Amino acid sequence: MTEKIYFADARADHKTTLFAKINMLIEKMDVAGMISNKALTAIKVHFGERGNTAFLRPTYCRPFIDAVKGAGGLPFVTDCNTLYVGARGESVSHLMCAYDNGFTPGALGAPIIIADGIRGDSVVNVPIEGEIFKSAVIGADIVKADALIALTHFKGHELSGFGGAIKNLGMGCAGREGKHAQHSDVAPKVKQKYCTACGSCVENCPANAITIDDKAFIDSEVCIGCGQCILSCPTGSIKIIWNPSYEDFQKKMAEYTLGVLKGKENKTILFNFIIDVTPACDCYPFSDAPIVGDIGIVCGTDPVAIDQASADLVNEARGIDGTALKENHEPGGDKFRGVYPYVDWTFQLSHGEKVGLGTRDYNLIKV
Ligand code: SF4
Ligand code: SF4
Repeated sequence: MTEKIYFADARADHKTTLFAKINMLIEKMDVAGMISNKALTAIKVHFGERGNTAFLRPTYCRPFIDAVKGAGGLPFVTDCNTLYVGARGESVSHLMCAYDNGFTPGALGAPIIIADGIRGDSVVNVPIEGEIFKSAVIGADIVKADALIALTHFKGHELSGFGGAIKNLGMGCAGREGKHAQHSDVAPKVKQKYCTACGSCVENCPANAITIDDKAFIDSEVCIGCGQCILSCPTGSIKIIWNPSYEDFQKKMAEYTLGVLKGKENKTILFNFIIDVTPACDCYPFSDAPIVGDIGIVCGTDPVAIDQASADLVNEARGIDGTALKENHEPGGDKFRGVYPYVDWTFQLSHGEKVGLGTRDYNLIKV
């Protein structure tokens, strides 16, 4: 079946602002029709690591919150704690980081609730029919919510090529145990020939998995697969080694997304913001320059279709010179491979299709 994906481009003027376009998309998706009276509605975002500047602006959340309230629902803005012990590793630091990045109840018009509890262990085991997993460990307050609206910053990602709705849901809504189950097979390696023993990777590794004798060495038994060391290395010495487990990482995310959506098949709406398309994840304490110009916002109910459409829109755009994009600048060139040549980002989509998460076949409707 062909899935409908609505698209509003990023152009704006004083008559048609970006907020006016967001409201048009909200209307197209009939957010009001999805929300029953007093429906506890999770607005899933990523608050951004402290120092990151590309995460979705808090003001983008406001029209969604207002729409839920207008329909009689009770919205809360949410994310789950991270696997690594950084600024968002437990709920107290996570909330302080969110406030520092501008996500406050006052600005949002809704409370913030970290969905997996203060220590990341308030979770529900959701049964799923995956090839790898038969259950997914999801943040309890997302599972218990009546409805879900995912606001996703679509950008590159060093482990999955891009980070879209599947990553925001499958990884972002997982409790700590669930995140580890998805990351556990991915351990990067140091190309020792190029290592200068500068120590940057050691400082940035949240799991203390790296030691330096003459050169850096990653203990794969200790590594939690977060990927933080890769961009922290000034000599580009740390690489993901392409192997089947890397493919599994994306497959696992797709399967976890099944768990997040279970029971909310008609109670979930997804919005991807293809704006500030940075090369890497918002979990880093910095943001590099965008690799393509701002494209717009897409929305739908199918995580596979919306991510396929988003990836296609990015790849159709012209790449920006002087950025992390090394090749494939021409319209139609694969921008994600242009940054991460070793990552085949299609596994999350093809596996999502295989396990019944959605379809890659979509019809893009411009509003
Ligand atoms: S991926 Fe790198 S930073 Fe993350 S735990 Fe493993 S060695 Fe440490
Ligand atoms: S950051 Fe790179 S160059 Fe520095 S110690 Fe680690 S692997 Fe070696």
